[in-house]
Amino acid sequence: MADLVDVLPTEERIHPNGNLIRELNERSLKDPDGFWHGVADELFWYEKNGPAFEATKEPPYGKWFERWKTNLCVNCLDRHMTNGMKNRVAYYWEGEPGDRRPTPYAELSREVTRFAKVLKDLGVRKGARLTIYMPMIPELPIAMLATVRLGAIHSVIFAGFTAKSISERVNDSKSKLVITADGAYRRGKVIPLKPIVDEALKDTESVEKVLVVKRTANPIEMQEGRDLWYEEVAPQGNVYVEPAKVEGMHPSYILYTSGTTGKPKGATHSTGGYMTWLYFTQQAVFDLKDTDVYWCAADIGWVTGHSYIVYSPLLRGTTSIMYEGTPDYPAADRWWQIIERYGCTILYTSPTAIRMHMKLGEQHAQKHDLSSLRLLGTVGEPINPEAWKWYYKHIGKERTPIVDTWWQTETGGILITPAPGIALVPLKPGSATYPLPGVDADVYMDDGTVARPGEKGYIVIKKPWPGEFMTLWNDKERFDSVYFSRFKGVYYPGDYAMKDEDGYFWLLGRADDVLKVAGHRIGTIELEDALIAHPAVAESAVIGKPDAIKMQVPVAFVILRPGQKPSPQLRQEILNHVRTTIGPIAVPDALYFVEKLPKTRSGKIMRRVVGAVVAEKPVGDVTTLDDETSVEEAKRAYQELKAQIAAGKS
Ligand code: ATP
Ligand code: MG
Repeated sequence: MADLVDVLPTEERIHPNGNLIRELNERSLKDPDGFWHGVADELFWYEKNGPAFEATKEPPYGKWFERWKTNLCVNCLDRHMTNGMKNRVAYYWEGEPGDRRPTPYAELSREVTRFAKVLKDLGVRKGARLTIYMPMIPELPIAMLATVRLGAIHSVIFAGFTAKSISERVNDSKSKLVITADGAYRRGKVIPLKPIVDEALKDTESVEKVLVVKRTANPIEMQEGRDLWYEEVAPQGNVYVEPAKVEGMHPSYILYTSGTTGKPKGATHSTGGYMTWLYFTQQAVFDLKDTDVYWCAADIGWVTGHSYIVYSPLLRGTTSIMYEGTPDYPAADRWWQIIERYGCTILYTSPTAIRMHMKLGEQHAQKHDLSSLRLLGTVGEPINPEAWKWYYKHIGKERTPIVDTWWQTETGGILITPAPGIALVPLKPGSATYPLPGVDADVYMDDGTVARPGEKGYIVIKKPWPGEFMTLWNDKERFDSVYFSRFKGVYYPGDYAMKDEDGYFWLLGRADDVLKVAGHRIGTIELEDALIAHPAVAESAVIGKPDAIKMQVPVAFVILRPGQKPSPQLRQEILNHVRTTIGPIAVPDALYFVEKLPKTRSGKIMRRVVGAVVAEKPVGDVTTLDDETSVEEAKRAYQELKAQIAAGKS
């Protein structure tokens, strides 16, 4: 990697046409074995036998580092004990109540070894599955690193999930051990976690031990013979635990996707390919310097946190910020205070968080010195150009580039993004720009032909890349059918997309959410962008309502900005705005004003739930829903407008 970046003269880092990125991409695709061998050489391996990459006949059509041996934890920690980084801070951790704990690499390494010793003494061995259900405290990454040190496989469950979600995942992975905490802080309150685990374990059979870390000191019950306090069993002083030497294709973890679209899928990641991909992308995307203080403000419970809070920053010896709580507690400026306090240089977050800050107002950011920031990033959903501009103007102060990174739980790491660590291309708000080296992305039409520039279709990845998931845990059949059968021989991510005249990729939302209106396909995101561009609108969700003549008609749910009042006039004004910006075909058939929208626990809008409300059908599986009252809110708005129309008032 270093040589790839260093060969570029600084003046050429801003390359208007992105030719350089595309050349590097072509080079990597022509010789995947040579290219990734070169990157992997910068990491630590016990053995390097055979090729870095070999093509296979079965999905996912390739194997990475199959006969190489390594250990992910050793690469994240032990490696830094002798390369001059041991005294560098790994995490500036800040708890929601305001407690702070900076942890240098050497200390993190000691903590992880202590944790690994406890796991080893409990019988955890290579290949065993462990479920982790914890708040955003340092012991969460510590537990993950200790697990992979032993060659065991973690399944981290976001600490907002219910008992049912836990038992479902524990049963699928057959975990023998659960690691949890007594409780978590959220908006100043203590949320007990251990009782949720107790409830979940009533429906599981595989779990033998529960290890509990103390965080909130709320009273909990400990089951004799099963439950242990971590503090009581942790060894004192220095210990050493031999790392497991694992093969490149040994699973590092299972992560169940958030399930916006149904039953959770256990994406299973490798060790060698995954590690190499993260090591490469962290530098390519964030262009890290020794002085950086990097903050990925996600939760470790999601893939963004696994890859870009835990593994990739540690692989690179980065100094990160890790924050336990909610962005608006105790006040709306909490994030901006944290950025100022630690001199944060890189902020990586989601469009949903940006829209939330936008709604709260820029005055909160203005109270703090954000001049340390030099790069901003987003992930998780398409970013509306309005939100992009707000982020650029009020947080980046029109100085810092924004990397809009497109990827998925399944892809392990970022695939399409501006890459200032290689060469920054001119940005277009709403486009993730070009695929990284190693990513053979394209857009296909329904019939499998390649879309022309400007034509909308489905994004596909035509060749394996190192970070690609290996399978779905326990479900190879579903792996093949969901991801590799829509178009023969290529990976199908399930997102709607377009490539423009400059070869820039625009990700337009989930393929399942695309509307078909009188023969036209409209991505929900195009309509939502238009709605959010209206000054009164803070957030929106567009869905297709079944229609006898047009097949589907768009309907929109809208949250107004603070100070705006719903009225039939405002409704008409917003609809007119859509008519003039996209065209008459896209004008929603109905527009509902709501106070909140149904979202997943990771903050993504669940359009299928809103769709069920207007189709007057049952809303279905809502275990991933964050706030159930949002469904009632959608129903209320729907019924209200229906009654008004019936009365001829709207
Ligand atoms: P599930 O697969 O269970 O329904 P999910 O898809 O929300 O859950 P993730 O893997 O976290 O779970 O999210 C990946 C999806 O998020 C992508 O497929 C895409 O739809 C969306 N996404 C992520 N980043 C971007 C981005 N930069 N631009 C547009 N969409 C994005
Ligand atoms: Mg998905």
